[in-house]
Amino acid sequence: MSTALVQNYARIDVAFERGEGAYLYADDGRRFLDFASGIGVTSLGHAHPRVTKALKDQADKVWHVSNLYNIDPQTRLAERLTAHSFADRVFFCNSGAEAVEASLKMARIHHSSTGAPERYRVVTVVNAFHGRTLATIAAGGQAKHLDGFGPRVDGFDQVALNDLDAAKAAVGPETAAILVEPVQGEGGIHIADKAFLAGLRALCDAAGILLIYDEIQCGMGRTGKLWAHEWPGVAPDIMAVAKALGNGFPIGAVLATEAAAETLVPGKHGTTFGGNPLAMSVANAVLDEMLADGFLAHAERMGALLRQRLEGLIGNKRVFSEVRGSGLMLGLQCTDSNLELMAELREQGLLSVVADGNVLRLLPPLIIGEAEIDEACAAVERACAAIES
Ligand SMILES: *Cc1c(COP(=O)(O)O)cnc(C)c1O
Repeated sequence: MSTALVQNYARIDVAFERGEGAYLYADDGRRFLDFASGIGVTSLGHAHPRVTKALKDQADKVWHVSNLYNIDPQTRLAERLTAHSFADRVFFCNSGAEAVEASLKMARIHHSSTGAPERYRVVTVVNAFHGRTLATIAAGGQAKHLDGFGPRVDGFDQVALNDLDAAKAAVGPETAAILVEPVQGEGGIHIADKAFLAGLRALCDAAGILLIYDEIQCGMGRTGKLWAHEWPGVAPDIMAVAKALGNGFPIGAVLATEAAAETLVPGKHGTTFGGNPLAMSVANAVLDEMLADGFLAHAERMGALLRQRLEGLIGNKRVFSEVRGSGLMLGLQCTDSNLELMAELREQGLLSVVADGNVLRLLPPLIIGEAEIDEACAAVERACAAIES
C-alpha cells in the first residue's frame, strides 16, 4: 500500500479496474459481486450506460461556470427533486457532510432571521453519522470521531434513537432543530420508528423548530421508496441527500421547504463546485432511471426477497443472528466478528461493508435481480460454513 497517501484508511488490498452493473473486476482478474456499492453510492450499478452517456455528453459542452450564473441542468434537477418530495427549494453541494453542514446553517439562520437568535442548538440521536467536518462530527456525537480534534463544536444535544420522551426533554428555548437519519447506516442499520418521527414532527411544530432528516444513505430508493421517510409518512422541513444521487459522481443536496430556506439569502452560504453542470447532468440521468415506472417497486421486491433468503440462512447462531433494515439497506447482526464475515464473503466473491455494533451491511445496487440474490446468498452460505468450520 502506498505511503504517498495519508494513512487514514485501513484499505483492503484489492484494486478494481472496471465495473459493470452489479460486478467489479479486479486487476488480478477476480470478479466480485458488489453488495457494498461504494458505501451506498452506485445504486444503478457500475458503468450504467445512461448515466455514463449523460456525463460524456455534458463533458463535451461545458464543465464548470460557477454559481454566478444560471445552470440549466441545475434548475432542472431542482425542479424534479422538489416535484418528487416535500421540498420547495434545493441547494447543491459536493458531499454528504456539506449537505448536513448547510442544513445546520439553514436551521440556525432561519431562527436568527426570524427573531429567535438564541435558537442555535440541534438535538441529534446517539450513534448517528452525519459526516466528518467539525460540525458534523459534533452532530454525530461519537467519541471515536471526536477524540483528538479539540473542543467540539458547541450546540448539539443527543438522545437515544426512538426515545421520544428524551427528545421532548432535550428541546428547550435554545433549540433550533432536530436532526435524525430515518434509517441509521454507519450506526448499524437502526430504523427510526414511525411513532418517534411523528412525535418529533409534532414536537417541532409545537416548539416552532425545524425537523431535519439525513437521507444521505437511506434516500434515493435505497429502502424501496425514493425517500425513506415515505414509509412512516412524516415529512421534514430540511433534508440532506448525497451518496446515490450522483451514482459515484460527487454531489450533495439540501432539500427544504420555502419557510426553512427563505432566510438563506445571497452572501450567507455558497460553494464553488456545488451544482456544477457535470454533477447535475449525471444526477438528472440517475433520476430518469429511478423515477421510471417500476424501478422503485423492483428495488422494494428485491429487498424483501434478499431479506427473506438471508433470514433463512440464520440457522447456526454463531455467524449472524438477525437480519434487519429496509428495502436494499440490510444489516446482519453478527454474533462473532463482522470483519471476519466481510473478509470471508470477499473470499467468496461478495463485497459488503461493516457498520457499528458488529453489523455487516449489505447495500447492493438497486438494479440487482434474482440471479444476483441467489449468487450472494450462496456466498453467504459458504462464508458461514467456512467460519463455522
Ligand atoms: C455517508 C454519510 C454522510 C457523509 O457523507 P460524505 O459524502 O462522506 O461527507 C452523512 N450522513 C450519512 C447518513 C451518511 O451515510
